[in-house]
Amino acid sequence: MAEAPDICWICGHAGGANDADHHPPLATLEAEGLDPCDLRYLRRAHGVTGCPTCGRACNQSKGAKLLPPAPKASRAW
Ligand SMILES: [Zn+2]
Ligand SMILES: [Zn+2]
Repeated sequence: MAEAPDICWICGHAGGANDADHHPPLATLEAEGLDPCDLRYLRRAHGVTGCPTCGRACNQSKGAKLLPPAPKASRAW
């Protein structure tokens, strides 16, 4: 079986998709007791360097790895 080209599964463009994205998401895999290292659950996606075609950082723009915005600390002492 030939090596699959580095096509980003999110935007569908080839080239530069060097990030490994989990599909289904890591949280889902863990919840179902599945192995997150299984290649069946990994998809190629564009990482921080972005897509040479559309310029998106697909894996980041999906937001799965981003932390939620910090809540405003409103401490009433
Ligand atoms: Zn992409
Ligand atoms: Zn793209």
